[in-house]
Amino acid sequence: MRSNPPFIAGLTASGGIELHSLFKQAPVTIVVYRGENFIVEVANELALQMWGKAETQVLGRPFFDISPELKETMQPILSKVLLTGKSFLGKEFPAQYVRHGRLYNGYFDFTYQPLFNSTGDTVGIIAIGTEVTEQVLARKKIEESESLFRSTANEAPLFVWVTDEKLQTIYLNKNGLNYFSLDASFDVSGLSWKKFIHPDDIDRVLDIMNDAAKKQQSYTLEMRLRNGLTGNYRWFLDKGAPRYANEKFTGFVGTSLDIHDRKEAEKELENKVRERTKELNDQNELLKKNINLVRQIFDSSVDPIVVYDTDTRIISINKASLNIFGGTEQGVIGKKLLDVLPQLKNTKGHKDLLRAISGETIHNEIYNSAVTGRYFENSIVPLKDDNDKIYAVLAMAHDNSELISSTERLKTKNEELESTKSFLEQLIDSSVEFISVFDKDLRVITVNRKYEQAMGVSRKEVIGKHLFETNPHLKDTVQHEGILKALSGETVYLDKRAAIARPGHFVDTYFIPMLDHGKVEGVIIMSRDVTDIVKSEQALQNKNKELTEAQHLAMFGSWEWDVAKKLCSWSDALYRIYDIPSAEGIGFEKFISLLYPADRDKVQQAIESAYKTGRFEEFFHRIVTPSGKIKTLHARGEVITDEQGNVIKMIGTGQDVTSQLQLVEQLKKLAESDRLKSDFIKMASHELKTPITSIKGYLQLLLTVMKENDKNQLSPLLLKSSMVSIEKQVDKLTRLLGELLDLSRIESGQLTLNVEEFNLNELVIDVIQDVLYTQPKQVINLYHDHYATVRADKDRIGQVIINLLNNAIKYSPNADKIDVTIGQPKKNYIAVSVKDHGIGIDKKNQQKIFERFYRAEGESEQTYPGFGIGLFIATEIIQRHQGSISLSSEKGQGSIFTFTLPLTNTEE
Ligand code: ADP
Repeated sequence: MRSNPPFIAGLTASGGIELHSLFKQAPVTIVVYRGENFIVEVANELALQMWGKAETQVLGRPFFDISPELKETMQPILSKVLLTGKSFLGKEFPAQYVRHGRLYNGYFDFTYQPLFNSTGDTVGIIAIGTEVTEQVLARKKIEESESLFRSTANEAPLFVWVTDEKLQTIYLNKNGLNYFSLDASFDVSGLSWKKFIHPDDIDRVLDIMNDAAKKQQSYTLEMRLRNGLTGNYRWFLDKGAPRYANEKFTGFVGTSLDIHDRKEAEKELENKVRERTKELNDQNELLKKNINLVRQIFDSSVDPIVVYDTDTRIISINKASLNIFGGTEQGVIGKKLLDVLPQLKNTKGHKDLLRAISGETIHNEIYNSAVTGRYFENSIVPLKDDNDKIYAVLAMAHDNSELISSTERLKTKNEELESTKSFLEQLIDSSVEFISVFDKDLRVITVNRKYEQAMGVSRKEVIGKHLFETNPHLKDTVQHEGILKALSGETVYLDKRAAIARPGHFVDTYFIPMLDHGKVEGVIIMSRDVTDIVKSEQALQNKNKELTEAQHLAMFGSWEWDVAKKLCSWSDALYRIYDIPSAEGIGFEKFISLLYPADRDKVQQAIESAYKTGRFEEFFHRIVTPSGKIKTLHARGEVITDEQGNVIKMIGTGQDVTSQLQLVEQLKKLAESDRLKSDFIKMASHELKTPITSIKGYLQLLLTVMKENDKNQLSPLLLKSSMVSIEKQVDKLTRLLGELLDLSRIESGQLTLNVEEFNLNELVIDVIQDVLYTQPKQVINLYHDHYATVRADKDRIGQVIINLLNNAIKYSPNADKIDVTIGQPKKNYIAVSVKDHGIGIDKKNQQKIFERFYRAEGESEQTYPGFGIGLFIATEIIQRHQGSISLSSEKGQGSIFTFTLPLTNTEE
């Protein structure tokens, strides 16, 4: 208030009455305080009223003497103004002071302004004020009620809101804030709340609210509000009421109630209603279709259907009936039956209709229609309404004419069938065979008399029964299989089988498919008793078996050749002799092929001659079995002719005489060896006698000479030549005796070997030298193709070589050389060959000369001395050494004798 000093100055300076009275009547309180004690200098009327004091009580007195209760609150303020010179503004300032003797609470708007003197010092304070107690209290009341509203609204389960006149929200309760996810401290007046309304609802909501604002009236609406947290919309019921202040519209106060669940339930209900309505509509539609369908069925029925009213008027008629009635639907509908078909008067049909109209339900099995002449079956049914009243009659008929005629035909056919059946039964009854007929399911259709008798059953009993019921053992037998095959269209024949149902009997059976129009409908089983045949066959078979056995024992087989039928047959034994399977059978060509090739012509000629002459001459022939064995057969036979002498067949036997012949052979050999032995003895005695005779000759000569020349000395020349001759003969004897000794050792198994290791080449050289010593006539060439050491009895091997060399010399009197070769013909063997250029040996004797006592017979050989045991002994010695001895020779061309020995060690 420094701007006003002139006014204050004026006041203080003049203190005029005019100004005073102006103060007094001022509509505001005015008080002037002076000095530090705040002496009241001026106080106007309103001020006195405010204080509740008289002027006299206050003027010139210090303020806080007047109202000491205010000192505490007011003194600091006043002092401050005085001290600082700055004014103080109090607004609705509460003051508690005593007024009219009572404590009073009041509110004041006031200013304290400093008063300055001419030098600018603060000398006092002017206080100007207005009491505002009433307004303050009134406002406080409003404020209290407002706060009550808010706290109540906050607790409300719905949203409570207040808007201003421009529809801007100025208040929203806690629930609302929570829903929009806003903080309690949020200033809603800045909230753009419309964005929480569902976009589809916003226009409608604003229209309603604006309209209500314009008309200043309440409104109710439903809208969706977005949840601030989830972003989902929920339905709310929004109600607003206009708000006024001083009769002026200031906006809406309202609530929003969450009706989402209710709304959803309503919606669901609505949907259900809609669905149900649709269903009903669909059903209606279906019903309509059904009615159409019934109409169509009604029309498409081949059975005539007519509906009459109780006056026999035609209400409804289908096409099939119109065909019978004649005329069109329009032509007959509404007309009485007799008007349409007058000829029905007094007929059963007309009467039936009348009876149905009176309530009877009528059904006629088969009747002949008076209108069409055809056979019908019909029903006439009264139709009743809910009250059981007859309002119409439904007549339906069915044309059975076809059925009747086909039944008639069937009857005739059945009769025919019956007679056929009886004919067939008679037929099968007259058969001597057992006949049974089964259907596809193996049930008996019929059986014949023979079957009845054999099985002890009657036809009636078995018809319809199953196969396994009549004959349980048949299951899974060949017969069963035969039946099944027959059912698949094949005819099966089983011969000479044991009858399953009749033990001890044998039957031949046919299983024949029973065909109907080419389809198998069953099986016919026909069997014949062949027990007698089977039994006699069995007896025959037994006999044959005995015969076969006998033949087998005698190595003896029989054959038969049916000339007319060109059939050959053999007994089993004969097949066994030829060692070929009987199943192969035999024919003439084959028989010839089995013969030993060299005997084929002979056999063929013998048979041909028997055929021609009617006499079978016995003969021997050889055969070759498949395994290559050669057998000798003795063939005997007989030719059978008819009365005219034509050959019908030949029969005969073949006997295997191979082993007999072998025996004969052996016997022959024995005889031969006996002969050889006696030859040997003859020869041995001759051989032994020759040197002895010669020795004896020399000795006699010497003795004679000694007698004659008793005194004379014997001529030394004669003596020496005699001695040399005697020595030669003694050597010969010694050799012969040695051989005999070896022979007896071999025969008694006492030939022992003294095995040692030696060089064969050296041995051969030694032996040749020895031989040359006594036999210097021929040259012996020795070829060492191979050098070898052998493990053997050196003396015995030497003996063999000597023997071969001696023979070579002996049997080549006109030759002058012998070749000896030591070689290796095969691995691990060494061979010594002695080759001469002498008389050689016949092929036929080449084997035999190695045998005991054998000496080749011929003019030349006889002249050579020998026992025929040298080679035998040599063979024995070589074989005992696991070696072999062989010969290559030709008569007159010389011989090569070779023996081999196993090698121990080879020297190159
Ligand atoms: P032998 O004492 O009769 O010679 P062997 O057993 O040594 O008896 O001979 C048997 C027969 O073999 C002889 O009688 C002779 O006929 C025949 N033979 C053996 N060696 C030869 C040969 N080198 N040349 C011809 N014939 C031979």
